[in-house]
This record gives sequence, C-alpha cells and structure tokens, in this order.
Amino acid sequence: MFYINFKIYMENSLIRDIQEICGKERVLSATEDLICYSFDATGLKALPDLVVFPDSTLQISQILKIANAKKIPVVPRGAGSGYVGGTVPIQRGIVLALAKMNKIIEIDEDNLLAVVQPGVINERLQQEVESRGLFYPPDPASMKIATIGGNVATCAGGPRAFKYGVTKDYVLGLQTVLPTGEIINIGVRTAKGVVGYDLTKLFVGSEGTLGVVAQITLKLLPKPESTRTVLSVFPNMNLATECVASIVRSRIIPATLEYMDRRAVECVKEYLGGGDIPEKTGAMLLIEVDGPETTVEREAKKIEDLCARGGAVKISSAVESRDREKLWAARRAISPSLRKISPTKINEDVTVPRTKIPEAIRMLERLEKKYSITIVNFGHAGDGNIHVNLMVDKADVDLMKRAHSALEEIFTEVLKMGGTISGEHGVGLSKSRFIEQEIGGPSMELQRRIKNAFDPNNIMNPGKIFWVYD
Ligand SMILES: Cc1cc2nc3c(=O)[nH]c(=O)nc-3n(C[C@H](O)[C@H](O)[C@H](O)COP(=O)(O)OP(=O)(O)OC[C@H]3O[C@@H](n4cnc5c(N)ncnc54)[C@H](O)[C@@H]3O)c2cc1C
Repeated sequence: MFYINFKIYMENSLIRDIQEICGKERVLSATEDLICYSFDATGLKALPDLVVFPDSTLQISQILKIANAKKIPVVPRGAGSGYVGGTVPIQRGIVLALAKMNKIIEIDEDNLLAVVQPGVINERLQQEVESRGLFYPPDPASMKIATIGGNVATCAGGPRAFKYGVTKDYVLGLQTVLPTGEIINIGVRTAKGVVGYDLTKLFVGSEGTLGVVAQITLKLLPKPESTRTVLSVFPNMNLATECVASIVRSRIIPATLEYMDRRAVECVKEYLGGGDIPEKTGAMLLIEVDGPETTVEREAKKIEDLCARGGAVKISSAVESRDREKLWAARRAISPSLRKISPTKINEDVTVPRTKIPEAIRMLERLEKKYSITIVNFGHAGDGNIHVNLMVDKADVDLMKRAHSALEEIFTEVLKMGGTISGEHGVGLSKSRFIEQEIGGPSMELQRRIKNAFDPNNIMNPGKIFWVYD
C-alpha cells in the first residue's frame, strides 16, 4: 500500500542547494530511484521528494539547516530493515540515506571502545572487533544488513540480549545533528559519566525523531573464550517453557535462549525438507552459553540434564562454529519459511515477564481460533520477547480486518500481563496508535514536549511515534 503523500516540497533551487552541499551524484530525484527508498521491511510505502547521501557530519548539518528553514520533513535511513515503518517518508521531504557514512573510525583496544559512522553494518563491526579478540554483543537477526545508526535509533536487541543487554547498554556517546543543524557531542569516552541529563540514552531508541546520529562511540567487551550451542526438542510448548524456568532457576544465564512454537517448527521442517527434526515436535529451544571453557562445559552439561529431565525428546550440542551453525539452521530458516504460508505477515515483538510466556502463548492460541487466523510464534524466551507473526494476505480484506482486531486484543492482553507492546522494533508508524495505551496520557504529553523542545518545526521523521492521523 502506498501512503498518499502530503505536499511536494522541492523547488529546483532547493535541489541545487543540496547538490552543492553533497555533490550532484549524491542526490536522487528520479521516481525510479525514489521508489527504492520508499519502504522498509513492513512493506508500507510512501515516496520522498529527494534522497540524499551525505558523507560527513557537516553535510548533514548543512542539509538540516536548509530543511529546518523551509520546514521540509527529513527521514534518516540506515538499511531500511525496520519493522515499524520508521523510514517510510509519509510526509514526503528528504530521505537522508546514511549508508555511505560507513567508516569504522577507531577501535581502542585498551579502553575497550569503538567509534563508528552510522552506516557501518552491524556484522562488519562484529567481525572487525572479533578479529582483535573483542566483542560487540548486540546481534539483531538482521545484523547482515542493518546499520549501527539504525540499531542505535531503534535500540535494537537480539538473541544475546538475555545475558548481554541491548544496544543502549553499549552506547557510550554520540555525535548528533539537531534539526537546527547544530552539532552536539553527548555522552562520554569513559567507563562512567554522570554530568547532566543522559541525552545519549534519550537519543537511543528515538527513531530519528529528535535528530540525526552522525557518529557513535560503543563499549566493547573481551571476546568470550568459548561458546557451546544446545538444541533441545520438546513434544509441547508447556514442557519447553517449564525448562526455560528451570534453567533460570539454576542460576545459569545463557547468552541465548530462543524458542520456536509448533507452527514455527512445522514451517521450518517443510522449508528444510525435514531438517533432522523429529516427528511430532511441539517446540524447540536453542540455547547458547559462552565464557571460559570450563564454565561453558559445566553449564552446557547442566542445561542438557535439565532439558532431559524436563521431557526433551532430542538434545544436540556443538562447540565448533560449523557444527553450531547447523543447530542454528532451523532458527535462521523461520523468516523465509513463513513466506510459504502466506505472502505477508504482520510481525509483532510483544514482550511479557519471562514467567508469563506460557500464559501469553495460550492467549495467542485462543486468539488464533477466535479470529480464524494463522499465528506463528518464536522469539527470545530469556527476555520474554515473543515474535508474533500474523499470517495475512493484503488482497484478503476480511482477513486483514480480523488480523487488526486480533492485534488490538493481543496488545491489550500483553499489557494486562505487565508486558510491553514492543521489546525491539519500536513504535514508528505501525504502533503509534497504541503507544498511549501503554505509557499513559501524562507520559505521552511529556514525550510530546520533549519532541517539541528538540524539534519545534517537527521536521524530524514527522508522523512517527506520535499518532497524528485521526
Ligand atoms: C529479517 C529481520 C530480522 C530482524 N531482527 C531483529 C532483531 O533481532 N532485533 C531487532 O531489534 N530488530 C530486528 N529487526 C528490525 C531492524 O533490523 C532493526 O530495527 C534495525 O535496528 C534497523 O536498522 P536499519 O539500519 O535497517 O535502520 P532503518 O530501518 O533504516 O531505520 C530504523 C529507524 O531508525 C532511524 N534511523 C536510522 N538511522 C538513523 C540515524 N543515523 N540517525 C537517526 N535516526 C536513524 C530511521 O529514521 C527509522 O526510524 C529485524 C528486521 C528484519 C528485516
């Protein structure tokens, strides 16, 4: 679906001014080029007026000064892998494509930090630091394409979040460009720092609505000595979630604790042509422990025992990276395998207190029947993060209506359980209608005032986070 765009902003003189800042070849205005920057992973679409590829903080600043003076919307864009329509330019204007600002500026091995430009791909940073015996834990499943700037703007999480936390736990400092074009350096290059309000944390997860992240200072850790992966197959989800509880009770914090429900397993099995998955598998847990070799061995053994006692019908374990990759095959195949069920999915990332996962899964099974819609669930069990996939077809109007009603009920139920409507993907466009239901009116009002203090002309990614379409 294409959003009907508001107003066309670009006069030829403005385009020329921007071409002078960045160079002609870094400014796109042909419709066929604009289409490539009109959507993200949701499939929502809207054409911008212009796509601009700045290559320095100064260029970003000069572009924002012009945009602010003329009140032209600016939408920062990394890889466009977001799941909430965050980069979709629904009010036209300029898409500021940051992918070409992709230098790893510095890796400081003694102070355990890296300084990078926003367009650096997550996986590239991981590989670079790992080659030096260091470790950058945030690992969204999109790490092969997503940028660090996008990760910061969405506060991306990933499978390792249970033990290591999410992006905000690794951002020490930022160079940002405010909507006025002012360049500010916030945060620190030190392990600690408590001077003034924590603007760095405010920027992390702000989804491009407060300014542009132009440079990022990240905390690094030493690379764990060893990692072991355990894949356990259970006859049903109840036994799998009970096992998650018993692992946590045993005081082991795995780096990764992923689960797949029966439907996710069925999809993957069909996609992989069996893939060594036993008949009547009802759920799977993929568990990874890392650290010193002897600790890893001891913890993995304990986890295998807990899985066996908890009713697992098959347990596989691997330490070499090639063998571990084989155990990851089913988990990695989920997304592509879902395309076999239906052309589109609504992918939500609700999160509940870990102990409420069984209740949440039962609720989702009930709603699947109530709304006659296929729902596939998988996610990060350690974090209580459930990736709820409502399998839909945009051509089927009735199915879409049922999906949206189901979604509203899912959000209401998750909030009743003490959860949140988004553990990873953010609000963007898709969830802006629901945010107030979670955070409440007064908090919403404060957030509007914060947005207004940074961006009184509302040029930064307008229409995201704050719902304005009623
Ligand atoms: C297959 C798949 C798997 C995924 N798995 C995960 C996962 O495990 N965990 C997870 O958290 N997410 C996941 N995602 C969602 C997505 O990859 C993340 O939200 C990611 O952080 C987005 O990065 P990006 O570079 O694609 O940003 P974009 O999609 O380009 O932008 C996302 C938001 O950030 C803003 N933005 C981007 N760059 C900047 C900048 N430099 N300054 C200011 N604002 C900026 C944009 O305006 C937008 O609002 C997944 C997506 C896909 C398609």
